[in-house]
Amino acid sequence: MHALRMSLACLVVMLVGTVLSAGAAAPPAKGQVPGYYRMMLGDFEIIALNDGILPLDVKKLLTNTTPARVDQLLKRAYLTNPVDTSVNAFLVNTGTKLVLIDAGTGNLFGPTLGNLVNNLKAAGYQPEQVDEIYITHMHGDHVGGLMAGDKLAFPNAIVRADKRDADFWLSQANLDAAPADAKDFFKGAMMSINPYAAAGKFKPFDGSGELTPGIAAVSTYGHTKGHTMYMIESKGQKMAVLGDLMHVAAVQFPNPSVTIPFDTDPKMAAVQRKKAYADGARQGFWLAVAHLSFPGFGHIRSEGPGYVYYPVNYSIPR
Ligand SMILES: [Zn+2]
Repeated sequence: MHALRMSLACLVVMLVGTVLSAGAAAPPAKGQVPGYYRMMLGDFEIIALNDGILPLDVKKLLTNTTPARVDQLLKRAYLTNPVDTSVNAFLVNTGTKLVLIDAGTGNLFGPTLGNLVNNLKAAGYQPEQVDEIYITHMHGDHVGGLMAGDKLAFPNAIVRADKRDADFWLSQANLDAAPADAKDFFKGAMMSINPYAAAGKFKPFDGSGELTPGIAAVSTYGHTKGHTMYMIESKGQKMAVLGDLMHVAAVQFPNPSVTIPFDTDPKMAAVQRKKAYADGARQGFWLAVAHLSFPGFGHIRSEGPGYVYYPVNYSIPR
């Protein structure tokens, strides 16, 4: 009897073992956790919001370099082409205002993107609470998320951008004159900004200057005609939100001269990138970048002919 009980117990153990090992063979669940990351800059809370990722064929795209050189730099960074490229936007809670810098893609790009509003909610905010939205430039991956279908995604927000971008991308004459493969850039900007303009909620600005206490526009024309970075400052701490002054960290930190065809004026874009890098390295301020790997917060130091990037150390504000 005792022996029988022992062998029954063994059988149970074996059966349980079988069930457990079947469970261990479950398929990968895929996906990621909600994409937000918060940090404090002085008294300001700044939250990186992940809109998703865009696979970029950077070997084909990057200019003022060679595919072999790009390959070499990707390998050094343990990356393979195409490179999954983050699309980040940044929410700033100044204590008196909620300011969103860029708005993600909305539904203008594929299924790997368009998650900004979900991640904003996951971070504890509602789209209705956003007071102002500062646009770095009017490419679809920065303005598409202003709309949710045919509704304003941020119904109580005033949208601001440099008038040079508005004059260029919202011009019907420019859309008509654009080559077929460039028309979508104009259409994306118009679909995203025009409904705010029609509602009296689009207020362009003219060049550099403070937009709200602690956040200033800094003209960095080149990537687009009105491309603007935003300088955030609280209690002596500074962060530069670079927009699209760079796209591919593994290549453009070691070699800031490398350009991308999305640049309206690649030469000027490279000049602006080098200036922002040099200032960032010299002054040691934070960078927040749209297409750096999420969350896109970090610092840089100059090293040889280029720069080395130090991503934010994971922390929890408390
Ligand atoms: Zn972009």
